[in-house]
Amino acid sequence: MATNVQQQPTQAPQASWHDRPVEEVLQALKTAPAGLSQDEAGARLKSHGPNRLPEGRKRSVLVRFLLQFHNILIYVLLGAAIVTALLDHLIDTAVILAVVIVNAVIGFIQEGKAEKAMDAIRQMLAPRANVLRDGERCSVDGEALVPGDIVLLEAGDKVPADLRLLSAYGMSVQEAILTGESVPVEKRIEAAAADAALGDRAGMAFSGTLVASGQGRGVVVATGAATEIGRISSLLSTVEILTTPLVRQMGVFARWLTVLILLIAALLLAYGYFLGKHEFSEMFMVVVGLSVAAIPEGLPAVLTITLAIGVQSMARRNAIVRRLPAIETIGAVSVICTDKTGTLTRNEMMVASVVTSQHLFGLDGTGYEPKGAIRLDQADVDAREHAVLGELARASALCNDAALRERDGVWAVEGDPMEGALLAFSGKLGTEVRRHQAGWTRTDAIAFDSQHRFMATLCHDHQRHAFVFVKGAPERIVAMCRDQRAAAGGSEPLDAGYWNREADRIAARGQRVLAFAVRAVPPEHTVLEHSDVEGTLTLLGMVGMIDPPRAEAVAAVQECHGAGIRVKMITGDHARTAAAIGAQIGLRDPDSALTGADLDNMNDAALKAAVLDCDVFARTSPEHKLRLVMALQSHGMIVAMTGDGVNDAPALKRADAGIAMGLKGSEAAKEAAELVLADDNFASIVSAVREGRTVYDNIKKVISWTLPTNAGEALSIIVALLFGMTLPVTALQILWINLITAATLGIALAFEPTEENTMRRPPRARDESLIGGELVWHIVLVAVLFLCGVFGIFSYALDKGYSVDLARTMALNTLVAMEIFHLFFIRNIYGTSLTWKAVRGTRVVWATVIAVTAAQFAITYLPPLQAIFATEPIPLADGVLIFGVGVALFALIETEKQIRLAIKRARGALAGAGT
Ligand code: ATP
Repeated sequence: MATNVQQQPTQAPQASWHDRPVEEVLQALKTAPAGLSQDEAGARLKSHGPNRLPEGRKRSVLVRFLLQFHNILIYVLLGAAIVTALLDHLIDTAVILAVVIVNAVIGFIQEGKAEKAMDAIRQMLAPRANVLRDGERCSVDGEALVPGDIVLLEAGDKVPADLRLLSAYGMSVQEAILTGESVPVEKRIEAAAADAALGDRAGMAFSGTLVASGQGRGVVVATGAATEIGRISSLLSTVEILTTPLVRQMGVFARWLTVLILLIAALLLAYGYFLGKHEFSEMFMVVVGLSVAAIPEGLPAVLTITLAIGVQSMARRNAIVRRLPAIETIGAVSVICTDKTGTLTRNEMMVASVVTSQHLFGLDGTGYEPKGAIRLDQADVDAREHAVLGELARASALCNDAALRERDGVWAVEGDPMEGALLAFSGKLGTEVRRHQAGWTRTDAIAFDSQHRFMATLCHDHQRHAFVFVKGAPERIVAMCRDQRAAAGGSEPLDAGYWNREADRIAARGQRVLAFAVRAVPPEHTVLEHSDVEGTLTLLGMVGMIDPPRAEAVAAVQECHGAGIRVKMITGDHARTAAAIGAQIGLRDPDSALTGADLDNMNDAALKAAVLDCDVFARTSPEHKLRLVMALQSHGMIVAMTGDGVNDAPALKRADAGIAMGLKGSEAAKEAAELVLADDNFASIVSAVREGRTVYDNIKKVISWTLPTNAGEALSIIVALLFGMTLPVTALQILWINLITAATLGIALAFEPTEENTMRRPPRARDESLIGGELVWHIVLVAVLFLCGVFGIFSYALDKGYSVDLARTMALNTLVAMEIFHLFFIRNIYGTSLTWKAVRGTRVVWATVIAVTAAQFAITYLPPLQAIFATEPIPLADGVLIFGVGVALFALIETEKQIRLAIKRARGALAGAGT
C-alpha cells in the first residue's frame, strides 16, 4: 500500500504563538516583515518538509480488486457458476467465471486509471499563496510555504498555513472548518490570552479557513501536519466515488432489470421443466445462458469509464471538474451567465485615456511596460507640465496592491492586472514606482469590495505628510468628492455633470473607467474609516483602460447561439463599457443593458419577465447574480454561472453549474463551484458544454447499444423455448458472445468523440429521461430484428440440410455480426452513419471490431474451440450471407433513424414557423 511519509516540521507542535506579541514571534522564527530570502526559504523547506496535509488512507489494491465483484449482477453470475459446477457443466462454469473475471479486470484497470486521472486533476487545483520573499511580492505553491514566510491575505483567500497576523484591515475569517462556527470572526493583531480557545485567537489565521473580508498579512508559524487542521486532518480525507446521479440511476435500473430477468428465468425454468417436460439440468443451463445474456453486467463499469474519459477531456480543455455530477449538468445548460473581465476579455489591461478637469489625454504603450508616450490632441506632451498627472501617478502607485516585474524584457503583473496597468501608467508618467512606494508607509486601508466599488489607502511619508488615496468606479468616487483638482493646482468646485459625461464617453469606447481622488489628513491620523472618505475628497481625474475581447470568446458565443444556449454577461463594470464589449463579443441586443440599480427596482415577478430578453447586466453586485440565477431557473432553464469573488459563492452554489475562475478566482469561489476554469476563458466553458454533451451522448450510446443487444440475445432463447423449437444458439455459445463482446464492443462507445452536430442541437430538457420512449422503441425494434436475423439464418441453414451444429455456428456469427453493425449505427445516433468519417470510425472501434472478428474466426475454425463450443466451419458463401444480414440490419435501422430525424426536423420547422 502506498503510504505518504510526511516530514514533520521541526517546530514544537506545542509552541504557542497566539499569546505572543508580533515582534517576539518574528524574532523566534528568525524572520522580518519583508519576508525570508529565497535561499533561506529553500533551506527551510528542506528541513521542515512541504506544507501538505498527510494523505488519507487509500484503499488497497486487493480491496479495490475485490470490490469489483461487489455487485448484484456479478453475484447472480457467481451463483450460476456454482450451480453449473454442481451440475458438472464445468466448461460452462469456466466460461461464466471468465466473463466475471474479464469484467473485474477491466473494471479494476479502468478504475485505477480514472483515480489517477482524478488525482492529477485535483493537483491542478492546488492552491497558491502570495508571499513576500526578498522583500518582493510573489506567488508560490501553497506547498512551498515555510515557517517564517510572510503571507499576504485578501478576501476570498484560503489561509494556506497557520499564521500569526502582522496586519489586518477589516479582516474577518470564516473558521467553520475548525470551530464549526459559520459566522466569520474579526481578526486583529493583538495577542490573545494564553488559554484562549481556538475561535478566540483573533491574532491568528488558521490553515484551511477562508478570509471573508478585508485584507492582511501574517507570518507562517506552522505548516503541514503541524497546523491546527493538520492535527485533525485524518478526519478530513475522503475518497470520491466516480459516479453521477445518472450513473447511479442506471445502477438502480440495472439491479431491477436483474431481478426481472431472474424472475423471467425462473418462470421459464418452471415452464420448460413442468410443461415442456425438458430435463432440469438442460433447462437450467438454458436459463443460465439467458440470464447471462440479458444481465448488463458490464454496464456499470463502462459508464464509469465514460465518465472518467469525460473528466479527462474536460481537463484537457481547461475545465476542471470539482464535483462529478457537473459533467452531466454542464452538458444540459440552456443559459451561461458569464463575467466580463478576463472571461470574455483578455484581462490584459492598459490605460489608454486620462481625463482631468480640463483635458482628455491619450496614452501609448505595449503590455505592462511602464514606458509610452502621452498625447494631447495628437501631439506628445511632457507629463511634468501637468501637475495633476503627477498626482494621478502617485495615487495609482499608492492605492495599489499589485507589483510589476520584468523578466527577459517582458513585463508581468503579480496581482490584479488592472492594478498592474495602473502601475505601468504611473511609470509612463515618469514615476519610479518602487522608489515612490518605498517613500511611503501604508498605515491603513479599506480593501476593494464589489459592493462599495472603491478602494482606499492611508499613507504617511517621512516628512509627516499623510494622505488618503481613493480609486474606484467613477460615479461612486464622484459622489464621494467635495471638489476637484484645478488645472493650475489647488481645488475648485466639483462639476459632477462634466465627470459623468466624460466617464460615459470613455466607457462607450469599451474602456473600463476608474476615478482617483485624494485627501490630505493630519499625520496623527492612522486609522481609516468609511467616514473619512465620504463627501470629503478631491477628485483628481479618471483613467480609461482597454481590455480587448478574446477572439476565441467571439467564436464561442456564436457556437452557444447555434447550440440553443443563451449567453448573458453579468459584470460589475459600467453599463456603457459592458454594452460596448457585449457588441464586440456578439451578444444579442447589448444596448438594452440593465444595471444593478434597475434590478433593485424590480420585484421578482418583474425580474422574471425582464431576464429573458436582456443579455447584458452591468454594475451588478454578487447579490444580483443570485437573483438572476433564480429568475432564470424559474423559467425552467439550466443555468451555468461564473464567479470569482468571495461574495459570488451563494450564486455559484445556487446555479446548476457553478463555474469558478482558476486564475483570478478566490479559493472561496472555487470551493463553491462545480467546475473551475484553468484559464478563466469563456471558450473553455463552451468546450466543457461540448464535452458534457458528449459524455451524456456516450452514456446514452452505451445504454442504447447494450440493452437492445442483450434483449435480442435473450429474446432468441425465450422464443425458442416458448415455441418448443431447437435453440438457435446454445447457452454456452451465448456465454461466449458475452465474454468477447462485453469487454470490447461495449467499451468502445465510451471513447466516442464528439458528434459533428453536437453543438447544433438545442440543449436537452431538464427532465429528459435517459430511457425514454425513443430508446424503448429502439430496444424493441433491434431485439425483433436480431430475432429475425438469428432465426432466419438458423432455419435457412437447416433447410439447406446443414447440421444443427453448423446452423448454430451460423446463427452465433450472425448475432455477433449484427452487434458490430449495430455498434456502427449507434455511433451516430443524432446524424447520419453514412459518411466517410462515420465509417472510418475511431481506432478503439476498429481495434475492438478486429478483436471480436478474430475471436469469431477462432471459435468457428479452430478445432479445439470447435470441440468445446460445438461449432463447425462455415462455408465462404454463407459467411458472406452472414455479413449481408449485418448490412441489412444496419440499412433498416439507419433508414428508420433518418425517417425519424426527418419527421423531427419537419416538426421543428413547423414549430419554428408557428412562433
Ligand atoms: P467583471 O469581471 O464581471 O467584468 P468585475 O468583477 O471586474 O466585473 P468588479 O470587480 O465588481 O467587477 O468591479 C466593479 C467596478 O469596481 C469596476 O468597474 C471598477 O470601476 C471598480 N474596481 C474594480 N476593481 C477595483 C479596485 N481594485 N480598486 C478600485 N476600484 C475597483
